Formats: sequence, C-alpha cells, structure tokens
Amino acid sequence: MALDEQARMIRETVARFVQRELMPLEQEVLQRMTRGTEPVLPSEHQARLGALASELGIDLLDAPAEVGGLDMPASIMVGVFEEFGKTCVPFLLPRQPNLFMSLLAGSDEQKAKYLAGYQAGTLQGAIAISEPVAGGDPAGMMTRAELDGNEWVINGRKIWISYAGHADFAIVMARVGEGQREEGITAFLVDKGTPGFIVEREIPMIGHQNTFGVVFDNCRIPASAVLGPVGGGYAPMQRRLVIRRLEIGSTNVGRAQRALDMMCEHALQRTTFGTRLSDRQAIQWWIADIGTRIHAARLMIADAAARYDRGEDARTEIGMIKVYAPELAYEAVDHAMQTLGALGMTKETALFAMWQNARLARIYEGPSEVHRQAVARRILKRYS
Ligand SMILES: Cc1cc2nc3c(=O)[nH]c(=O)nc-3n(C[C@H](O)[C@H](O)[C@H](O)COP(=O)(O)OP(=O)(O)OC[C@H]3O[C@@H](n4cnc5c(N)ncnc54)[C@H](O)[C@@H]3O)c2cc1C
Repeated sequence: MALDEQARMIRETVARFVQRELMPLEQEVLQRMTRGTEPVLPSEHQARLGALASELGIDLLDAPAEVGGLDMPASIMVGVFEEFGKTCVPFLLPRQPNLFMSLLAGSDEQKAKYLAGYQAGTLQGAIAISEPVAGGDPAGMMTRAELDGNEWVINGRKIWISYAGHADFAIVMARVGEGQREEGITAFLVDKGTPGFIVEREIPMIGHQNTFGVVFDNCRIPASAVLGPVGGGYAPMQRRLVIRRLEIGSTNVGRAQRALDMMCEHALQRTTFGTRLSDRQAIQWWIADIGTRIHAARLMIADAAARYDRGEDARTEIGMIKVYAPELAYEAVDHAMQTLGALGMTKETALFAMWQNARLARIYEGPSEVHRQAVARRILKRYS
C-alpha cells in the first residue's frame, strides 16, 4: 500500500477513536480535574481504551517490529499525534515509543526482562534525567554511579520524573568517572523497590501531570544493569528526545486546531451589539493568524518528519518545532478563551485543560528558550 494511503487510513482510524471514544469522556475528565482529588482518567477507562486501541491496531504503531510493533515512520505518526492532541482526555497509548528506543540498546538479557513486559503493557517505565541542579541543561547532572565489585552504586537526586511513583522500572541517567558535561553520562535500569531507590514525593503540577522527586541513596544494582555503553548514554538520550519533540509538536498542532474550531464555532453563533463576532475584524485576525500558523506548523512538521525518516539530522528543524508548536497552541487556546468570554473562563470547556497542557509543553523536554539557543547556535555556525 502506498505510504500516503496508509497514512490516511491510520489517521482516519485514530480520528474516529478520538471522536467516538475520547471526546465523550471530556466532561467527566474536566469534572475530575476540577475536584482535583482523583485520577483524571480512571484506570478502568484507561484499561478499556487501551484494549480497544489494541483491537484497532493503533497501540503499537511506532513500536519497533522487533517487539511486534508496526515501525511506522515519523511521517505517519505526526498525523496520529495531531489527532490525539485534539482532546483534553489524557489517554496514553499504553507504551511510550521513545522508551522502546532506549530499551532496544539493551543486552539480550535486558530485552528479555524489560522489552517483553513493556510490549505487553504489563511493565510501566520512567526516565530520570532532570535534577534540581540540571533540567534544561542535563549535561550538568550530578548524580553519580561508581562500580564497586560487580555492582554499580548510584547516589544523587532526580526531580520532575513522570510516572516514577508507580513505574516498575526507571531508566536513570548518571555520571561515571571524572568526565565533564556529556562525557561519562550513562544509562542504568533500576527496578522499583531496589533498596536506596527512594520516591521521595509526588509533586502536584498544572494539567494534573504530576511528577516525582526521587533520591538515590547508595542504590546498588548489578553490573549488568547498565543500559548501552558506559559513558555513552548522552547521545542515545538525545536521539530519543528528538522523536519525542516531534510528537510534542504534532500534539500541540492538534490542540491549536481544536482551539481554532471552538473559536470559529462560537464566533459564528454569538452576536454582540447586533453583529456576529465572526464579522469583527479583531476576531477575524485571530482566526487568520492562528489558521496561518497551524498551516506553517504542519508544513514544518511534515518536512522535519521526512528528514528524520530519511535518516538525516533534523535536530535544528525539530528544535524549531518544539518552540513553535507549543507557543502556537498556547496562544490559540488563549484567543479561543477570549472569544468565548466568561464561558472561556469556566472549567467546563476543554480549553481550561488544553491551556494548562499547552503551558506545560513550553517547559518539558527542554524549555523554549533552551531550544531557541540551540537553534541559534546551529544557524550561527553556518556563518562563522
Ligand atoms: C510535566 C513535566 C513532566 C516532566 N517529566 C520529566 C521526566 O519524566 N523525566 C525527566 O528527566 N524530566 C522531566 N521533566 C523535567 C523537564 O525536562 C525540565 O523541567 C526542563 O528540561 C526544564 O528544566 P528546569 O525545570 O530545571 O528549568 P531550568 O533549566 O532551570 O530553566 C528555567 C528557565 O530558565 C530559562 N533558561 C534556561 N536555560 C536558558 C538558556 N540557555 N537561555 C535562555 N533562558 C534559559 C528558561 O526560561 C527556563 O524555562 C518534566 C517536566 C514537566 C513540567
């Protein structure tokens, strides 16, 4: 089947899943977010939706063929993520594709232990990179690992780690040896319950995307728990983040599109001072600008995904997208909120959740300013 035809069919399946299964749950999710005392998407919904996604064949789309996935190219996956971005229902496909990428670097023994469970959806993983002293600049991390006989001993502190409180294992980045910056950074697999692996606290975050603070206090793991080459963990970590940032870009384009839809629908039916909002120039300019930027973002994403699929270095383009798409989504939601007036200030429309989620996306996987710096450096290099 031609790639375009396959992309269209997959996207339509995901779009139907979002419309029929996720959109009807939005009011329940918003009410739970407002109460703030319970999981936003109850586990029974997550389990039912996960099973349905599996039945529809959309749960392992971009997982590697090695683990039974369909290994879909980024060019197809960006359409999938855009569809998921259109709803505030935080349904997560049971497995994070970028975690597969890390696990594939493992030994046969590690693959047998972690990949099989992860593929089956019975093992949840977390990735611990950020530290109190090093977030946007992860090469400044201080957590250390030292070899003691046939064990690694990890000491340090991680923060803002998603899923750490309930994950079965964590991929932990720590420094080995005396190298500076990227040098010496190594990935380790640490199982839940390992003595010295302490989940210190759950940190409430906006958008109900709580994270965790984690301490490693003389945490001993077997020598075989190192993932990939000792001292060579930084480059694979960055490669994993590249695809994750493309995913964040597409999700935020979906979010911006949903905001534009809501803004247009409301503007067409609301009249003030005898004139429809859709006839006001102020509103029309928001619509035109957001529509233009969504179009630009889609083209940027399609181009970056094609480069990535051809094996080219797309870091600059993907860095641009990581800045552009979350900022676009945030402003699109803000304009939609303004267009809806007081209704846009309630906790009863998806805008409230989308606003928080778009805000978060300007920080995680690298704040906008850090990406701007990296993009500027690469552009300047061409002139120096
Ligand atoms: C919801 C959520 C989930 C997360 N999940 C994980 C996870 O699972 N695993 C993990 O390891 N981490 C995770 N993180 C952490 C995230 O990756 C970091 O928060 C992020 O990289 C920023 O690091 P920081 O918070 O230390 O900010 P800092 O690096 O201290 O930066 C703070 C601010 O300073 C400014 N700034 C920083 N550097 C520059 C610069 N070079 N130029 C100009 N301005 C600059 C920016 O405005 C930036 O927002 C998560 C974060 C959030 C919000």
